[in-house]
Amino acid sequence: MKQERAIRNNLSPSKVAVVKCSEYEEGQVVEAVGRGLSLIGGIEQFVKKDERILLKPNMLVGTVPEKAVTTHPAVFKAVARHLLGQGAQLTYGDSPGFGRPDSVARKAGLSAAADELGIPLADFSTGSTVSFPEGHLIKQFTLAKGVLDCDGIVSLPKMKTHALTRLTGAVKIHFGCIPGLLKGEFHARMSDMERFSKMLVDLTRYLRPRLYVMDAVVAMEGNGPRSGTPRPMHAILVSTDPVAMDAVACRMMALDPTLVPTNVWGEELGLGSYTNIETVGDSVASFVVKDFKVNRTTGSTTGSMNSRLARILRNRVVPRPAINAARCTRCGTCVKVCPVTPKAVDFQNREAGGPPVHTYSRCIRCYCCQEMCPENAITVITPPIGRLLHR
Ligand code: SF4
Ligand code: SF4
Repeated sequence: MKQERAIRNNLSPSKVAVVKCSEYEEGQVVEAVGRGLSLIGGIEQFVKKDERILLKPNMLVGTVPEKAVTTHPAVFKAVARHLLGQGAQLTYGDSPGFGRPDSVARKAGLSAAADELGIPLADFSTGSTVSFPEGHLIKQFTLAKGVLDCDGIVSLPKMKTHALTRLTGAVKIHFGCIPGLLKGEFHARMSDMERFSKMLVDLTRYLRPRLYVMDAVVAMEGNGPRSGTPRPMHAILVSTDPVAMDAVACRMMALDPTLVPTNVWGEELGLGSYTNIETVGDSVASFVVKDFKVNRTTGSTTGSMNSRLARILRNRVVPRPAINAARCTRCGTCVKVCPVTPKAVDFQNREAGGPPVHTYSRCIRCYCCQEMCPENAITVITPPIGRLLHR
């Protein structure tokens, strides 16, 4: 591992283009994406005529683009236009955290954008297993058929906060290449942040997208990745290195990149670099938002869960999901997505009409319930002892 890192650090810096884009006006976004692509070498470097390219937007859940949960259709269309101009054959898709891909794409405005350009939705409901002997942690993945059927991937991450990984960007986005409920299984198996992050890094190393275009025109701060607040950042980022891209996104959010575990493990395991970056285009400093609402506490948000002591510590120290009963509509989404058995969040007395209740001794702190709650009724809070340690 150390050797891989040393080799990477002897490489030329990873280029990340940062381009001003003040709003989702179609012409402006097409121009900004085009400028970003030129700054890192031109679209022809990445895609050849007639290649089957999968566009992979963030389609976490079906919400309108203005909520900043999903990649904006204007960014999707702009990238698609550049790729079509190069003669690529496009498909698109993602496996949402909740809901069917076609329904999420429709609500997020992505299917209308795709239909306008004649881009079909790829199959993200079924999958096949592939082996990955080079994986540091995971040697085998089950991936959506739509992923396996393409020649290359262009990823379109959205700049957002995340309770577990702090940032959901260019590495985390690929969790959606694992179809349906299998994602929950990974959460249950990779129950601490280090293992979960290494799994994401392995997954991205296997997929090797050719190009990343990040939608940071309007990002999400606060209680992301679903229930946060839209925050205009006025930028499009373009790169071939997902770790470098996420590190630049951290800089814009005034967040130490070493607090995002996929950055640290991404560099350690040879996916990319957060330390050896060349930014091109507009000045990154001009996009920095110092009061961007993101978890800046030091220390990991979860620890190793294996020993008894660790379990005790987990309950006293590690941030945990908490339900605001006044906001909760009793929809049951949190119960459905909780990946552990028996459930760590469940209705205890549904007839009485109460909200679900967490059983923290079972909870692995994957934060899927917080991620998927449609009412912003779940937040992640740090217990008092944890607050002292994480200061
Ligand atoms: S997902 Fe949110 S609104 Fe639905 S039951 Fe759980 S806490 Fe309540
Ligand atoms: S209760 Fe929430 S955080 Fe805990 S294991 Fe279930 S989904 Fe994950």
